[in-house]
Amino acid sequence: MKRSTIISLLKQSQAENLGSKVNVKGWVRTKRGNNTVNFIELNDGTIVHNIQIVVDVDKFDPELLKQISTGACLSVEGTLVASQGKGQSVEIQADHILLYGSASPDTYPLQKKGHSMEFLREIAHLRPRTNYFGCVLRLRHAMSFAIHKYFNDKGYFYLHTPLITGSDAEGAGAMFNVTTLNLQNVPKTEDGKVDYSLDFFGKPTSLTVSGQLEGELGALALGGIYTFGPTFRAENSNTPRHLAEFWMIEPEVAFNDINDNMNLAEDFIKYLIRYALEHNIDDLNFLNNMIDKELLERLHFVLHHDFVRLSYTEAIDILVKSNRKFDFEVSWGVDLQSEHERYLVEEHFHKPVILTDYPAEIKAFYMKQNEDGKTVRAMDVLFPRIGEIIGGSEREENYEKLLQRVQELGVPEKDVWWYLETRKFGTAPHAGFGLGFERLMLFITGLANIRDVIPFPRTPMNADF
Ligand code: ATP
Ligand code: MN
Repeated sequence: MKRSTIISLLKQSQAENLGSKVNVKGWVRTKRGNNTVNFIELNDGTIVHNIQIVVDVDKFDPELLKQISTGACLSVEGTLVASQGKGQSVEIQADHILLYGSASPDTYPLQKKGHSMEFLREIAHLRPRTNYFGCVLRLRHAMSFAIHKYFNDKGYFYLHTPLITGSDAEGAGAMFNVTTLNLQNVPKTEDGKVDYSLDFFGKPTSLTVSGQLEGELGALALGGIYTFGPTFRAENSNTPRHLAEFWMIEPEVAFNDINDNMNLAEDFIKYLIRYALEHNIDDLNFLNNMIDKELLERLHFVLHHDFVRLSYTEAIDILVKSNRKFDFEVSWGVDLQSEHERYLVEEHFHKPVILTDYPAEIKAFYMKQNEDGKTVRAMDVLFPRIGEIIGGSEREENYEKLLQRVQELGVPEKDVWWYLETRKFGTAPHAGFGLGFERLMLFITGLANIRDVIPFPRTPMNADF
């Protein structure tokens, strides 16, 4: 008999399906009952809800029923019937049960009682079987799909940028080295430095921190592109918002200025929120009930309000006048910390905020310089509970100005000659940004720690699973 998914039975069952024979396969969430009837809650991951299996104890081998406990994997054939109980529309009256694998109640770690997120991280191999992670993983999938759909529908092209990079000019953070040199016996040059000419690529290489520079090459040929891939940062920042390996979406668009860029960012995030509300409401309802009672309200709120747009300089003014005692004091020129960003969003404006025109000193070399000679056309999108969710800018398209910044900051020209050439040959105004996928997932799920919105987090001192 062909397997039915639980989502199809719970969501698509019509009156005429009642009484038909069905087969479901999945993992036992709970079993309860008495000497005559057992109720098994079965989940197959297709939906947060379980289907109830009603077992007439007399019809089954007691040894089999004894082995069916939380975590066991079953195939069940039976009759689909209208449910007597509350909370579900249909249930299955079991005829045959095949036990694929039992899970001993003495050792299976996911018993019915609630588990802390910290504990679940230690069993990341099993946590996909919890309702929390089922919701997170289905939402991650839906958001990934929606990201591709959004850009595809708008005529942008998905560009694959390299993960291994030969330049350390991306400037977005500390990098992981990539090498095949024998670390026990590193070849040295005459002056005692590592002899990278003997390494795999004949020069130092690392894992990329951003696909942007290559993304720009694509935009200056195809018009609008986006990347969506893993990026790596070796910063030792043990925070609830940083991973060493995370996914980033980076649209880059020729002929866009910073205002177009802000409009794109706002429209894009709202599209993703709307998509989640339309396609994953069961998962969001679960998370809203179990994790964060304000989740749905917050999603709707962001969806229905314009993001506030103001300059870095205006933001500093607000922060200074707030008379708030911050851990890091603010003055014009400092990089904003998450406490500042969250003050602006959560306490001052009560809305998402887009800050623009940051001091050139605290931003990367490729951002377009403003007339004032001090600021650049950067934009950061700041969100409640998260702080920075997007960082982007209009790019400097003027060859001389870009070269000057490269030289001022000591970026090796041998690393960026190809990037500079795009400004030499047929340069064009363009802009883009990076959205951290897991920061988005924090917002969409209401979870508090970034380790809980990626299946297998990579953080300092942790690369298990
Ligand atoms: P932050 O100041 O929060 O460390 P950043 O300014 O270094 O971030 P960008 O280089 O602007 O980040 O990267 C673009 C986006 O990628 C950020 O807006 C954020 O959403 C995401 N991001 C950056 N670093 C991380 C990280 N370590 N883990 C997860 N997401 C990240
Ligand atoms: Mn940033």
